[in-house]
Amino acid sequence: MAKILVIDDSRLVAHVAKTILQKRGHMVTLAGDGEQGIAALAQDRPDLILLDLIMPGLDGYAVCERIKKNAETAETPIIMLTSKAESADKVRGLEAGASDYVTKPFDEGELVARVNTHLRIRELYESVQEKNRELSALNRQLQDLANRDGLTGLFNHRYFQEALSKDFQRSIRYHESLSCVLCDIDFFKKFNDTYGHPVGDVVLKSLGRIIDGSLRETDLAARYGGEEFALILYHTPGQAAAMVAERLRQAVETCEVVAGNLVLKVTVSVGVATFPHPEIPNHKILVECADKALYKAKKQGRNRVVTYESIEKELKEEAAKAAESACQEAS
Ligand code: GH3
Ligand code: MG
Ligand code: MG
Repeated sequence: MAKILVIDDSRLVAHVAKTILQKRGHMVTLAGDGEQGIAALAQDRPDLILLDLIMPGLDGYAVCERIKKNAETAETPIIMLTSKAESADKVRGLEAGASDYVTKPFDEGELVARVNTHLRIRELYESVQEKNRELSALNRQLQDLANRDGLTGLFNHRYFQEALSKDFQRSIRYHESLSCVLCDIDFFKKFNDTYGHPVGDVVLKSLGRIIDGSLRETDLAARYGGEEFALILYHTPGQAAAMVAERLRQAVETCEVVAGNLVLKVTVSVGVATFPHPEIPNHKILVECADKALYKAKKQGRNRVVTYESIEKELKEEAAKAAESACQEAS
């Protein structure tokens, strides 16, 4: 059963069509002119329209054009109702977007056959649309999977780099601050060596969950490498980023990781770098600076947060000393 709208100013024609189609089990609505037709269309959402071309006021061509212009009704098939003499009109109607025509007075068999054909085409069109929607949803899922790390479910390294690059550009454009946090598990190798690789994996998964749980909606977390995680904190200046990092460090420290009958204590070292900064021109350098801070956190004894800002002076002194000794060696 389909919903069919008949738009015709002749009550006789409209009623004959209605009788024929109702006999076939369809639900038929009648509209006596173009305006009423447009109104009924919006209200009833018919599956097919029978449309008289010659009507007072808004004629069939204008109705046709309106139906085609509206994205919600554009795919509804329109069958024109024409009299035998109106051959040029049929062409004009088809050009305006009608799918087919039947001539008046109706041949019952022909009307039913054409209506059924176009209802079938519409059904097929809708099932193709549905399949396309399913395919798009699957593609989105696939795309999401491709962006994720299989073990932790966090974003992967490639996605992190892409996102950071975009966020960096956004930060430049809107003069926003942007922080990058690198977080590395302390003595992770020990878990693998003592309890085996699968237990190491459990530790990584737990870390993934802790990190994910400690983030705000606008932040992004990724598994950056083996036992290293990276965060993008958009719209976050250095001090706030250091606080997020410290909260994360504490969350890891206080959490007990359960692997089988083992209960493990895990700690992380964290490096933080923030843009804008005169020596950070792009997202790659931002990560490098966070990595330098992470390296210092390890050197200073692990289980701590170090910001690039806090070690800048020290790094410059180290670089100056290294340059000086290189000069002395050369001379
Ligand atoms: P540090 O405190 O200096 O970071 O010491 P660490 O032992 O954590 O660092 P190191 O880089 O020496 O060791 C990292 C180890 O992580 C080595 C590697 O075998 C392990 N690893 C990398 N990816 C995975 C993984 O997917 N699963 C497991 N179980 N181990 C992994
Ligand atoms: Mg480590
Ligand atoms: Mg490491």
